[in-house]
Amino acid sequence: MYLILLGPPGVGKGTQGVLLADATGWERVVTGDLLRTAKDAGTPLGQQAQQYMTAGDLVPDHLIIKMVEEKLTTLPVGTGVIFDGFPRTREQASAFKMMLQPLGRSIDGVVVLDASDEVLTERISGRRSCLSCGSVYNMVLAPPQREGVCDNDGTSLFHRADDHPDTVQNRLDVYRRETEPLIAYYEGSKSTVYHVPSDGGVDEVQGEVRRALGLDE
Ligand code: AMP
Repeated sequence: MYLILLGPPGVGKGTQGVLLADATGWERVVTGDLLRTAKDAGTPLGQQAQQYMTAGDLVPDHLIIKMVEEKLTTLPVGTGVIFDGFPRTREQASAFKMMLQPLGRSIDGVVVLDASDEVLTERISGRRSCLSCGSVYNMVLAPPQREGVCDNDGTSLFHRADDHPDTVQNRLDVYRRETEPLIAYYEGSKSTVYHVPSDGGVDEVQGEVRRALGLDE
């Protein structure tokens, strides 16, 4: 299964992706995490991406496409993969299709998560993330057991610089302008598109995702 999680920042793609990966054994390819790791390691990609990420803008397509291509070569053949945060533009979606062809793979499903801007802004402002395992917490809605520390691996949680309010509106605007049109693109392709409303709690949304994918039957 090659599955895309599509949705605005703060909708819960990370949280739902981790739960789905735990339940299925599928790998996660999370372009935001790959970029943050590159940035922290000070690699050339990380340095090039930094200014865009800080402003809440998209990193140029050619850098993202190359990064995902390289990541795909590291995954065992036949592994199920959840793509979170990719593709985000028409150009990335077209390049993705092309890079899957020689692997004999295609996108099997697209899960579209969405919620009101009010819910998204609330979730983003309280969000704390673990760079080590990808777990995402919310200081109000889903706090960790020990303040500031990941329940899974004890790593200190961090508040993403691009989660600050002045950047959040730009990220939402960029999503609605550049990424949301991909829903229509995939609806017009052979991929199955599942719409899952994500205003509710974590477990409720996860249940809906699994039901949509036919995993709980
Ligand atoms: P995310 O963690 O998915 O919200 O991504 C954080 C930031 O990384 C975004 O605001 C972009 O600057 C950058 N980014 C992540 N994925 C992509 C992508 N597929 N295309 C362009 N930029 C990306």
